[in-house]
Amino acid sequence: MHEEIRSLAKRKNALILAHYYQTLDVQSVADEVGDSFALAKYARETDADIVILCGVRFMAESAKLLSPLKTVYLPAPNAGCPMADMVTPDDVLMLRAEHPDAAVVCYVNSGADVKAVSDVCCTSSSAVKIVNAMREREIIFVPDRNLGAYVAKQCPEKRVILFDGFCPTHHRISEQDVIDAIEQHPDAYVLIHPECREEVLRHAHFIGSTKGIIDAAKRSDREELLIGTEIGVQEILMRDLPDKRVYSIGSTFTCPNMKRTRPEDVLACLIGEREAITLPNDIARDARLTLERMIELGG
Ligand code: SF4
Repeated sequence: MHEEIRSLAKRKNALILAHYYQTLDVQSVADEVGDSFALAKYARETDADIVILCGVRFMAESAKLLSPLKTVYLPAPNAGCPMADMVTPDDVLMLRAEHPDAAVVCYVNSGADVKAVSDVCCTSSSAVKIVNAMREREIIFVPDRNLGAYVAKQCPEKRVILFDGFCPTHHRISEQDVIDAIEQHPDAYVLIHPECREEVLRHAHFIGSTKGIIDAAKRSDREELLIGTEIGVQEILMRDLPDKRVYSIGSTFTCPNMKRTRPEDVLACLIGEREAITLPNDIARDARLTLERMIELGG
């Protein structure tokens, strides 16, 4: 099936993109593997006619926003992001009414309709830079309260108003989980994603985005690594760093939505058995501006 996918992709001028949290099987049929921001940029820069985004819905929407003339597919149509679904445009508008002087920064893990009513988008790697670059002192940060709290700590001159959303996969890791893991691997270099709770982040040697964690792990000269993000990152590092011992904090660090895509679903896109992503024009226009501003401010 892998050969069939690759040859059909070539024939149809399709670019297959996979997020780091996808299974290694799905990653192996992709042209590029990356985090959500990198994937959206690949989608924008390619001259392919079709983009197949192996990830969750907001990622495919972002790819469509940044490359509106391309046909974009989400191979597993029911792969959503529970955190993105926690916030609605009405929530943002209500917060705006309560804090009229604040700017709204929305995490890229949000729906196009939420992006459309926000001022700028951010990724976990650009959040601090973007919040710092805003001229407003008050910032409404949606939807992730953990990333928002981390950003607030890094930007003490800003007043960050948090929304109550969270990533179930990262939020379920407790401080006791990280203490137990460090007790088992006391020499390990501890790398944790800022979608985790503040009391978990306190134990990290390195805090960073998915790509930041992968790069820092590869740069590290430590023999043992303890990873505090989705299990896909541990799998990638075990494959790429066979001389190191790579552990995960907790055995439940899996995002079920990210694991929904199978190579069969990618094939289904290529043979026309999936619906392409479409977005209402007004939402797409406003959400695109929010994403473009992220690229402008976040680099
Ligand atoms: S890991 Fe968390 S933020 Fe990422 S797609 Fe899964 S639920 Fe959403």
